Amino acid sequence: MFRAILLEKTADAFSASLRDLSDDDLAQHAGDGDVVVDVAHSTINYKDGLAIANRSPVVRKWPMVPGIDGAGTVVSSTHASFATGERVVLNGWGVGETHWGCLAGRARLKGDWLVPLPAALSTRQAMAIGTAGYTAMLCVMALEAQGVVPGDGEVLVTGAAGGVGSVAIALLSGLGHRVIASTGRAAEADYLKGLGAADVIDRAALAAPGKPLQKERWAGVVDAVGSHTLANACAQTRYRGAVAACGLAQGMDFPSSVAPFILRGVRLIGVDSVMCPQAERRTAWTRLARDLDLAKLDAMTTGIGLADAITAAPEILAGRVRGRLVVDVAR
Ligand code: NDP
Repeated sequence: MFRAILLEKTADAFSASLRDLSDDDLAQHAGDGDVVVDVAHSTINYKDGLAIANRSPVVRKWPMVPGIDGAGTVVSSTHASFATGERVVLNGWGVGETHWGCLAGRARLKGDWLVPLPAALSTRQAMAIGTAGYTAMLCVMALEAQGVVPGDGEVLVTGAAGGVGSVAIALLSGLGHRVIASTGRAAEADYLKGLGAADVIDRAALAAPGKPLQKERWAGVVDAVGSHTLANACAQTRYRGAVAACGLAQGMDFPSSVAPFILRGVRLIGVDSVMCPQAERRTAWTRLARDLDLAKLDAMTTGIGLADAITAAPEILAGRVRGRLVVDVAR
C-alpha cells in the first residue's frame, strides 16, 4: 500500500482526499505504464493547483491521482532504457491529467516519458525545479536560440515571484543577463534581488491595455502571465529581440497587434513543456544541473507534506505561493 491524493468526481460532487492505494489500483488505472517508480518527491505547480481545486478542466479521467511532476527510484521496469534502482524525473506528458500522477508514494509511468535524474541533483532539488523550473529553462533556451546573449540588454521576467519566474531569474542572472523582475508583490523585492534580479518593477505597469509600439527596452522576455502583460512586453521589446511566452496567470487572451513583429522584427516564441520532445527535455535537465545555483534554488523552495498539497492548491491559484513548493510524499 502507498499513500496518494485521490481526486474523485460524480455528477454533483468533487472531492480531493488523502487515501491508501495499492499496486492493484495502479495496475487497474495506470496499467499502460511500463515503469513503476517509488516517488520520493513531487511538487505543486499552478496546473496541479487547478486540478486539485477542480478549477479548470485539467483532469480528463476519473478518479485521478494528481501530480504532473515526480522524482524517485525505479522499482520495476519492462522498458529497455530503465532498470531497477535508477533515479528518474517525470514532467508532464498528461500525467496527473489523463494518467495517474505523482502526488503519491508510487506511480506507474511510461519509460518513454522519463528522464534520468542528473547525478548532481537530489530528488528534492529536482522537484524544487519541477515543471515550473524546467519550463523556465526551456524559455531561456528559446531566447538563446534567437540569439539573445548576456550584454545585449535587459531581460524582463514576469510573474517573477512565482515558480517559473523565480527559476528564470536565477538562471538568467547566473548566465550573466541583467534581469528585471515584474511582480505584484512589492514586499518580495529583496527575495527577487536575492535570486539575481537587478531591479524590480510593479506588474501594474504592464497589466493594463497599452499602445501597440512603446519605448524599446527589453532584449528578451520570459513571460508567465499572458494577456495585456505579454502584449505590452512585446510592444517594449527592442529591435529583433525575443519573447518566450509560457503562461497565462493574468489571462489566456493576447490583445496585441502585429506592429512589434513586422516593424521591429520581434520574435514571439511559444514554450510548451508538456509534450516537449525528449531530446530538448534532456538538454534542459542537463542545463539545469549545470547552470542553476542550488543555493538560490533552496532559497525559493518550501517543503510540505502530502496532505498539505490539498490546502496548497487554492494558495497557488491565488498567487500567494512564493517560489516553489516541494512535496515530500513520505511526510
Ligand atoms: P505561480 O502561481 O507560481 O506563479 C504565477 C505568478 O504570476 C504569480 O506568482 C504572480 O507573480 C503572477 N500573477 C498571478 N496572477 C496574476 C495576474 N492576475 N496578473 C499578473 N500576474 C499575475 O505559477 P507558475 O510559475 O508555476 O506558472 C506560471 C504560469 O505558467 C501559469 O499560467 C502556468 O499555467 C504556466 N505554465 C506553463 C507551462 C507550459 O508548459 N507552457 C509550464 C508551467 C507553467 P507576482 O506575485 O510576482 O506578480
